[in-house]
Amino acid sequence: MAPSLSPIRSHHVAVIGAGAAGLVAARELRREGHSVVVFERQKQVGGTWIYTDHIEPDPLSVDPTRSVVHSSVYGSLRTNLPRECMGYRDYPFVVRSGVSESRDPRRFPSHSEVLAYLQDFAKEFAIEEMVRFETAVLKVAPAAEGEIGKWRVESTENEKTVLRDEIYDAVVVCNGHYIEPRLAEIPGISSWPGKEMHSHNYRIPEPFRDQVVVLIGNSASADDISRDIARVAKEVHVACRSNDADTFIKRPGYTNLWMHSMIESVHEDGSVVFQNGKTISVDVIMHCTGYKYHFPFLETNGNVTVDDNRVGPLYKDVVPPAFAPWLSFIGIPWKVVPFPMFELQSKWIAGVLSGRIPLPSKEDMIMEIKTLYATLEAQGIAKRYTHQMGITQFEYNHWLASQCGCSETEEWRKEMYLTTGVRKRAHPETYRDEWDDHHLVSQANQDFSLYA
Ligand code: FAD
Repeated sequence: MAPSLSPIRSHHVAVIGAGAAGLVAARELRREGHSVVVFERQKQVGGTWIYTDHIEPDPLSVDPTRSVVHSSVYGSLRTNLPRECMGYRDYPFVVRSGVSESRDPRRFPSHSEVLAYLQDFAKEFAIEEMVRFETAVLKVAPAAEGEIGKWRVESTENEKTVLRDEIYDAVVVCNGHYIEPRLAEIPGISSWPGKEMHSHNYRIPEPFRDQVVVLIGNSASADDISRDIARVAKEVHVACRSNDADTFIKRPGYTNLWMHSMIESVHEDGSVVFQNGKTISVDVIMHCTGYKYHFPFLETNGNVTVDDNRVGPLYKDVVPPAFAPWLSFIGIPWKVVPFPMFELQSKWIAGVLSGRIPLPSKEDMIMEIKTLYATLEAQGIAKRYTHQMGITQFEYNHWLASQCGCSETEEWRKEMYLTTGVRKRAHPETYRDEWDDHHLVSQANQDFSLYA
């Protein structure tokens, strides 16, 4: 270990984004004694949970000049994690007494309840006073060539050309990663006459009434949206590359919803041919194929890159060794319980910046990253899965917690995450309304009573 950056120091830190990651980062940085400015290009806190009817003019969201709509949330969206499990550790996502009737008390609530929770969190800890709303960061770059430790942050307010050019000691990037769509490659697509779109631009089923729709993907979004659309569409077909080539299954409980293997090709006459040999005439193809990490404002001279959706090199998925700890990223891992992980990452980076928590030497960090990459390669895991965690998130959280000197993830939270996953796969229709992990809910509520 390199010596800690003693004495403990406070720094001037820019946080980019006031979503779930940026809010908790701001809170933890200020708690640690840093002075914080949060840049947020929207008018309010909440990030992706700010539902909007608006969609982007380019339905595939590939035009780099398009005006970006940040949210990817659709009208019917309910959380895919139970609220006890999903909330920050330090501010449980409970049904708060004394709040208005418009709140959603369900265990897997609607998107509006998550937004209200994040707004409550911001209010409780007076985070908004640190936020510059309607202020977009256009550029983040080292303040001086070859000098590590100071960052130039250029921002613009209210989409005006007025640029602010400021110097910060550190930058914490919390810009979210559900904005820049990934698309499936489809042989023949350039001459296919139907409509293509990405799930980023899906809001409500009505536009799909009486249409034949193919969704590509096997994510929570593909699952939810296919069912949503099946209520009004003529036919809905879900194509998935991880399904066996001969897959052709009608979804139980539906007369118009089928699961297929991947699309083999599409044709000028509007037809779509699946690997299972089925051919259908299709109106719309919707890519529910996820998103790419994207940091359009970041200039690091090649020290931080996104390569096949690997953001790297990053020590512990948070700090690039070349700029450690003066540049960091909160919220990179996926297939995780995001909010409590953001909280631990934020506590960690706040403590590292103040010098309270030591970092290994740059060489040791690089060595650890190289070992991780080699292990992934030896296991045949593609680069784009570098930040996928799943069950390993708990080991990672444990490490962060031990560095920060806080208690590790509660057993009930781990178990709840795992049992919810099992129920979701077995009962995708009903897992949000029927459950049997009552003992875990009781344990969670017992813990939460400490915060009452
Ligand atoms: P975001 O919420 O995207 O916030 C990023 C913020 O940065 C935004 O406010 C944006 O305006 C701002 N920003 C970006 N660029 C700039 C810039 N250049 N200048 C200034 N501001 C900028 N998680 C769960 O826990 N449970 C769920 O059930 C769940 N369901 C989901 C369903 C969908 C469809 C999606 C897309 C995600 C879901 N998630 C869920 C994951 C969710 O993304 C995370 O929970 C979390 O909200 C991500 O927070 P974030 O702060 O990293 O990003």
